Amino acid sequence: MKRTFGTIFRILKKLAPSCIWNKPNDTTIYITFDDGPHPRITPWVLDQLKKHSAKATFFMVGENAVKYASVVQSVKDQEHQIGNHSFNHLKGWSNRNTKYYQNIEKASAFTSATLFRPPYGQIRPSQIHFLKKQYQIVMWSVLSKDYLKNLDCKRAIKRICRQTKPGSVIVFHDSEKAENQLKQLLPEYLDYCKNKGYEMKALPEKG
Ligand SMILES: [Zn+2]
Repeated sequence: MKRTFGTIFRILKKLAPSCIWNKPNDTTIYITFDDGPHPRITPWVLDQLKKHSAKATFFMVGENAVKYASVVQSVKDQEHQIGNHSFNHLKGWSNRNTKYYQNIEKASAFTSATLFRPPYGQIRPSQIHFLKKQYQIVMWSVLSKDYLKNLDCKRAIKRICRQTKPGSVIVFHDSEKAENQLKQLLPEYLDYCKNKGYEMKALPEKG
């Protein structure tokens, strides 16, 4: 199953040069958080970012953005970027295109109308073709795997630091499932990037 996903992912990467996977030749690291906002975890993330003078991008699920509008406002007030992660965290591979697009469109009123990250990284070439007219589709080059409850965080921090290069786009999750792992990984990762002299910036909107 894992192997199948990896293979599909590699094929998708070839088919999808219009998606962002990283931004090579750039000296910046782009930290991203998926699946929020969350009323407790997102404010904790904001504090961590502030301590490290880091900006980031939050790919929000529309229904969470509606529920926690004040958290969305804090993210905006602190000049981070907001991205669209669909309204109900839909899988691109198992939903009809029209339903998928409508769900993303519905989320755009509460999140972003220019930056989109497909939930689970699942997106069909036809969906990329349609969505890229309006959105910059953002994938990633480093996966923290903070959503794994049994993650060995000591090993994971070493791996994600080793994989981080100038221009990397890294994914974390401001979600309950990831909370314990995130709280171990994020402060260390931010320290690492700061010590390396990387700038941590929010992704720009699609121009
Ligand atoms: Zn997600």
